[in-house]
Amino acid sequence: MMNPNHPEKTAVVTGGSRGIGRGIVLQLAKLGFKIVIHSRTGGEPAQQTKRDALLAGSPEVLCMEADLADHDQYNSFVQRTFDHLGSCHVWVNNAGIAPQVRADLLETTPESWDHVLNTNLKGPFFLTQSVAKFMLNQRLHNDFSTPDHIIFVTSISSTVASIQRGEYCVSKAGLSMVAQLFAARLASQGVIVTEIRPGIIATDMTASVKDKYDSLIAQGLVPQARWGTPEDVGKVVTAIARGDLNFSTGAVITVDGGLTIARL
Ligand code: NAD
Repeated sequence: MMNPNHPEKTAVVTGGSRGIGRGIVLQLAKLGFKIVIHSRTGGEPAQQTKRDALLAGSPEVLCMEADLADHDQYNSFVQRTFDHLGSCHVWVNNAGIAPQVRADLLETTPESWDHVLNTNLKGPFFLTQSVAKFMLNQRLHNDFSTPDHIIFVTSISSTVASIQRGEYCVSKAGLSMVAQLFAARLASQGVIVTEIRPGIIATDMTASVKDKYDSLIAQGLVPQARWGTPEDVGKVVTAIARGDLNFSTGAVITVDGGLTIARL
């Protein structure tokens, strides 16, 4: 249903070309959002997601490319995005990477540390700084009675230690704090910040460890006894974007089938 205060609903999903980001794009499309799909390389995955989002109900979809590890690109990228959309009501920081090599903690290299933290932590922090300024400015010039949203896709790795990808865990733990910080900073100015913490989700990122996780899930690692899907995460974004959680800034929502329930 169209929101009278946001006659044209607009959203940006970083890393929206495939995987979890694609799942989020398709759910926002069903709500009728005009969407920018952001990814590093664009190409056919982004174009396919665009076609599917248009079929799902989005009135307009644009694919944009930028490297979120390149901090010089942020302001111009955010400016171009807002110029195109005319506004932005939902910004989803989803893009992220796993380390190229799952190395034991004692073998973590400074190069991998920098690459993962630049992409997963420094990138979203400074990108969100830029997005927040644009959102506050747009709210100054429009009489919105409903909030805007910034969403961070972190991971259960924010709290669950994996000793073969320490740099990834550190990046996600840091990103959880980034979400809390922006939630506190923007709460009184009409911007709601939410953290979504996925568990084991079937995407290209986890394709190389499919057999390992199949076996762990069969042994009971996930109480709900299945892989998560990009749609599972997308549906949480739907609830947020629809305004169903509008008194919950700073909320952390796990999408992990119960994996992080402490059990005996
Ligand atoms: P994926 O590899 O399938 O997709 C990643 C997306 O991020 C792609 O669109 C890619 O273009 C984009 N991206 C990566 N680096 C980028 C960069 N430097 N600049 C711009 N875009 C970049 O991964 P996924 O599994 O869909 O993961 C999405 C997010 O969810 C990530 O932040 C990941 O850490 C997180 N996550 C994934 C899982 C999982 O099990 N798959 C679990 C928890 C959290």
